[in-house]
Amino acid sequence: MSDQVLGNMMLWDGSAPRPSPVTIRVRNGRVVRVAPAIAGPVDVDFGGAVVTPGLVDAHLHLMLGGESCMRADLSAATGRADFEAVVAAAHEELPPDRWLVASGWNETRWPDGGLPDATWLACAGERPVVCWRCDWHAALVSPSVMAMLDLSSPPPGGQVVRGPGGAPTGLFLEAAAWKLINPLVPAIPEDERATALDAGMRHLLESGVTMARTMEYRADVERHYLPRLGDLPVKLSVVQLDRDLPLDLDWMSDVPRSDRFHVRSCKAFLDGTLGSRTARLHEPYADDPAARGMWVELALAGRDQEWLDAVLDAGCSPVMHAIGDAAVARALELQRRHPAMCTIEHAEVISRAELDAMEGARLSVQPTHRAEDAAMARDRLGGRAEGLLPLRSMQRRGAILSFGTDWPISPVDPVRTLRAAITGEDIQGRPFHADEALSPHDAFVAATIEAAATCGYARPLSAGAPCDLAVWDGDPFEDIHAATVQATIVDGTLVAGSLPTPQPHQRGTAP
Ligand SMILES: [Zn+2]
Repeated sequence: MSDQVLGNMMLWDGSAPRPSPVTIRVRNGRVVRVAPAIAGPVDVDFGGAVVTPGLVDAHLHLMLGGESCMRADLSAATGRADFEAVVAAAHEELPPDRWLVASGWNETRWPDGGLPDATWLACAGERPVVCWRCDWHAALVSPSVMAMLDLSSPPPGGQVVRGPGGAPTGLFLEAAAWKLINPLVPAIPEDERATALDAGMRHLLESGVTMARTMEYRADVERHYLPRLGDLPVKLSVVQLDRDLPLDLDWMSDVPRSDRFHVRSCKAFLDGTLGSRTARLHEPYADDPAARGMWVELALAGRDQEWLDAVLDAGCSPVMHAIGDAAVARALELQRRHPAMCTIEHAEVISRAELDAMEGARLSVQPTHRAEDAAMARDRLGGRAEGLLPLRSMQRRGAILSFGTDWPISPVDPVRTLRAAITGEDIQGRPFHADEALSPHDAFVAATIEAAATCGYARPLSAGAPCDLAVWDGDPFEDIHAATVQATIVDGTLVAGSLPTPQPHQRGTAP
């Protein structure tokens, strides 16, 4: 098979802080060599565009994200009226026997920040309704759903919220949402889920994402991923979400490992989230002095070490959800047994003690959460809000950062992630501890090279690696606000967007 030469591009591959003119020689979709540009014809002309390795999302939920493409979306609701309008519209559309499941609400986007209650769902009548908060750590349900439940003893690590008179409001937090509500919701028909997975992967490619680490249950991996290993358009590294002890990890070794799909990790939750005031903190919440958040699941049961040992002993990689500083401290302590194999997910609230213990720790973080949560964090944390994902300090103290979005918790938009990391701005574009921003080079390292390492894959664009690229319509190293991904290349082939028109005179010249 003859080689193909991709050229007339300014490539950033992590070897220098700025892009430089190169050609990439490709054989069967894999990189043979990246070399300085020389005059001469190329097979694929990039029109002088800035090119980076394909972007990597180190933490998302692909199946859930794909499903969210097909579900009522509350993420744009800015108050009760919007919320009710979305529920009413979905109720109109659905056949009478279906549950109405929506997601994405976030009370911090509403003027009074008040939590919703079951009266907000009245327009759906008797239909069972479940509305997940954007972080999936709280669910609002209709009276028809509550009528199916025994609410006398909520599961440990969960809360059934009650009004002043003691009656449940319809809001369920943490384990109460996962263990009481989630099992009741009828599964989406499997053929619709296959369509959702396709929609999800398509969405990734259109956003410039060519590789992702996805959190999935074993049953979904077996049903939806394994039968189609040959035609997955995105490189995937799967983290198993099943976490009940004793763990069964033997099945993973039967899954063929390749450089486009593997199952190699296992996730556990140590605490909840900042928005729900369930992230476990060293000190009480600034806006609720009685609360310090909670330990959940295995951490609550004091079995997190046992879990971690079982995962490592099986040759797998432990992945720990830790958001509050106390939970991050616990995760840092646990990962010490084998830092190279462990990752800590989110690591949002960081105090000095955690910075001191961060050398060599692999942290999978979401800069967009930092931008979105800036205002809320000031309420929750008061003066400690400056410790909300302090990227630069973390990196300086030797942490290895990789970026992700946690889609569908946040949109899968790697450009937004990079903007948040490079500018340090909040979601409205206002400065938020800008001294904790990263250089464009360091941000791209976290969004490509280290995120790929967190996935357990080779360094992007190294010899033999798949030739996956993001093509930019500006120079993100010059101005991240003026550049976005205009084309995505997978295995040397254009799969989304379009390449710029070739401009022969630009070859090999820096802008
Ligand atoms: Zn997640």
